[in-house]
Amino acid sequence: MNIVTTLLRGFPLPCKTGVIKIGNPNKNSPVFLTANFVLTAQRVKKALNGTDCYLLVANSRGINVWCSAAGGYFTNHDVISSLKVSGIEKLVTHRNVVLPQLAAAGIESRVISEKTGWNVIWGPVYAKDIPKFMENEFRKTPQMREVKFPLMQRIEIAVMWAFPFSIIAGLITTLFWRNMVLPLISLIWALPFLIFMPFPLYSNLLNPQKKGTKFSKYTVVFDFNRVPLILEGIVLFCLIIYSVLAGTFTWEFILRWGFISFVVTLMISIDLMGSTPVYKSGLHEERFLKVVLNDKKCDGCGFCKEVCPKNCYEIDKIRHLATMPRLNQCVQCGACIVQCPQDALCFQNSKGEIISPEVLRKFKLNLMGKRAVKIERR
Ligand code: SF4
Ligand code: SF4
Repeated sequence: MNIVTTLLRGFPLPCKTGVIKIGNPNKNSPVFLTANFVLTAQRVKKALNGTDCYLLVANSRGINVWCSAAGGYFTNHDVISSLKVSGIEKLVTHRNVVLPQLAAAGIESRVISEKTGWNVIWGPVYAKDIPKFMENEFRKTPQMREVKFPLMQRIEIAVMWAFPFSIIAGLITTLFWRNMVLPLISLIWALPFLIFMPFPLYSNLLNPQKKGTKFSKYTVVFDFNRVPLILEGIVLFCLIIYSVLAGTFTWEFILRWGFISFVVTLMISIDLMGSTPVYKSGLHEERFLKVVLNDKKCDGCGFCKEVCPKNCYEIDKIRHLATMPRLNQCVQCGACIVQCPQDALCFQNSKGEIISPEVLRKFKLNLMGKRAVKIERR
């Protein structure tokens, strides 16, 4: 793990774009393409170490693959430019490029092929699976397609929250409240770990469909009546035990630190679900949408299954039809809808209103999970 890039992973961190030679590639060597977020490029390079291939680093404005593609910062144009301008067309004779699967939420394989003649192969979600993907003749297993929230990623997300918060809190308290600096920074580091480490134990209690509280035009789900409140109770309990054992118990101490830990927990809880790759953020209104399949348009091509990061799809090869046996796992990323060549999929909200594939392809999510479009009524 690169310490600096991990500490700063919550911010855009661009690296140089262009073509990188890995090993001793020749004209038949595979071509991979990824985003120019430092951490992503480092991981893909590490995964490709020991192979002979080309890696194209395309402009995603220094943002990671999934967020940049869904938010319109990593576009068809960026991929097309990279293929056309990098010089890769002179280095290889074939026209197959492996893109990270999570880019499918924003980059259209059909458009890339039409504009450049390059065929897009959707690679695995995690760079570490690339060697096995290559061994498997560039085919993914269901595990390679699925996003998870493993221990190392939970540690990274905890660090991503703790680092900038502790810097800001440290600067403010150094100016006005010096004796609070160390205890406050310790608390700010402890709370995200307390929240994200046990995430698999309580994730079933989170409810992305919860309506939340309306602030201006955005609905915020604090989900505060359950998990973070329990965790906050644990913090308070630890504070009381500590102060009793240290012989410093006063209600003023408990109230002060209880309030501070409550504020920090509240801030993390606002976006608890959005910090994980397995739930849509409570800030994202798209969490209420449902993917709907038009059986008459579907021809069973399987593109939806290939790009779905939650393995929601199966393909009925007899009826040439997609089925969605695990739709309850959907995180509303939109990748299946964007990639479907028959426009057989769309989003529908609880009122029956539709977000069509054209809209999804044209308008990307802003940071609050909202598309600047009118929805259609059926
Ligand atoms: S991508 Fe579209 S047409 Fe192809 S199987 Fe999926 S829903 Fe059907
Ligand atoms: S089914 Fe849901 S999670 Fe899967 S690709 Fe479609 S929108 Fe994304």
